[in-house]
Amino acid sequence: MGMRFRILGSGSAGNAALLQTDTSSVLVDAGFSARKLRQMLHEAGTAWEKIDAVFLTHEHGDHAAGVDGLAKHPHVQVFANAATARAVQAKLEHRPAWQIFETGARFRFRDLEVQSFSVPHDAQEPVGFTFASGRDDDLFAPRRSLAWLTDLGHIPQHVKEHLRDVDVVAVESNHCPRLLQADLKRPWSTKQRISGRHGHLSNEGVRELLESVASPRWRHIFLTHLSRDCNSLDAIESVLGTLRSRLSCGFSIVAPGGGTPFYDLA
Ligand SMILES: [Zn+2]
Ligand SMILES: [Zn+2]
Repeated sequence: MGMRFRILGSGSAGNAALLQTDTSSVLVDAGFSARKLRQMLHEAGTAWEKIDAVFLTHEHGDHAAGVDGLAKHPHVQVFANAATARAVQAKLEHRPAWQIFETGARFRFRDLEVQSFSVPHDAQEPVGFTFASGRDDDLFAPRRSLAWLTDLGHIPQHVKEHLRDVDVVAVESNHCPRLLQADLKRPWSTKQRISGRHGHLSNEGVRELLESVASPRWRHIFLTHLSRDCNSLDAIESVLGTLRSRLSCGFSIVAPGGGTPFYDLA
């Protein structure tokens, strides 16, 4: 199989992705109710019973709400750093099978090599992840890798380094600053939080990131966590401009609330 990846849902209402390899089936974030996730997993041809682990970026409900329902699925291991686990556990009545990692640590889970790294966001200790499987010198199982980067107000240098050597990047392209400022629903303080250094990445922020790293290894970029009110396809297209063709990799813009079909990294 190699590695395959599918975004189950993306946006402020919830975020979760399914990553499968020969011997692992894991969720990256679980920001929907367990019931909703069950339905999403069913649509992806799998089920909670076949999920081995959940990896959490941070404690916000749109990334961690599904942990609440894991009382029914105690076999699912939940990977998080201590600060995130504490914040999620404080709202739970059951104790999931926590697997605590240190931010910045690289560790193995079955056939996955997992790397976490800190990101700037208004949560306890938010992280991004890269997941890799296989080896470059293995003809039949070459190394494949994915970066999951979401909920961050700006891009520190170390984050760029983690994106250089992956095949697939899923990165948030949260808002268009102009549409955010023009929005009538959100109070000023919320707009300040979203656009701040520990808020969410704008379309311009994504362009800067993609332009400055521009790795020849990239095969596909998923733009995720789009704001329904404060972003649009037109806004993203106008910011990305010709960058898409210059990067010569695939692009998917994930509609708010939507997901993607499986993307095969084999
Ligand atoms: Zn968040
Ligand atoms: Zn979020």
